[in-house]
Amino acid sequence: MSVAENYRVVQKRINDALVMSDDPEKTIELVAVTKTIPINRMKEALDVGLYHFGENKVQEITEKINFMDDSVKWHMIGHLQRNKVKYIVDKVALIHSVDSISLFNEINRRGEKINRTIDCLIQINVSGEYTKFGISPEDLNDMMKNVEGMNRVNIKGLMTMAPHYDNPEKTRDCFKKLYDLYHNCKDKQYSWANFQWLSMGMSNDYEIAVQEGSNMLRIGSAIFGERSYR
Ligand SMILES: *Cc1c(COP(=O)(O)O)cnc(C)c1O
Repeated sequence: MSVAENYRVVQKRINDALVMSDDPEKTIELVAVTKTIPINRMKEALDVGLYHFGENKVQEITEKINFMDDSVKWHMIGHLQRNKVKYIVDKVALIHSVDSISLFNEINRRGEKINRTIDCLIQINVSGEYTKFGISPEDLNDMMKNVEGMNRVNIKGLMTMAPHYDNPEKTRDCFKKLYDLYHNCKDKQYSWANFQWLSMGMSNDYEIAVQEGSNMLRIGSAIFGERSYR
């Protein structure tokens, strides 16, 4: 299947899921996850109007960026090591996967150097058993307190990765929990931070994520076809 055909199916499913959400009128940002995807397939995505690309390796961003024009918005969605921040701070539109204060410190330090404020999401490990990355919800308060003083870090919201279930319905509870946490932060606890993005939902579970209030999806295989790894 072509990228165009796949994208049409995804768009239709997003729209159908939106109708079942609390806010059917809202727009959803779709990040096309391009890890392992070759440049020619990425150009197909550009041709259908997708230009937010998500990668999980620093090196893949720094290589691919040479083949793409400035209209592309790069999203760092994978685990980020502190010593690699310097290679991408000036290149990415959003870092989805910040999960430690030391990583925030490094992002802030690098942001100061290039005189730019870096947009970030905090990755949350909702249940504690799902994945090895992300902080637990109980640690969020501590992290927000630390970040409040960082001039070059802009916290734009939260991200989570639900575990992979054959039955995507099982992810609903995880998404509900993150939605509640997000709105508590945005509307009450941390209104200073200007939360805007709730990044949740992948190929296997994006319809559930949309129904549960996601406004940023990270979708790879449903657009580009199966990869050899997740
Ligand atoms: C690979 C990946 C995705 C996309 O996965 P698909 O199942 O191909 O849609 C989304 N988020 C993260 C963090 C990923 O690593």
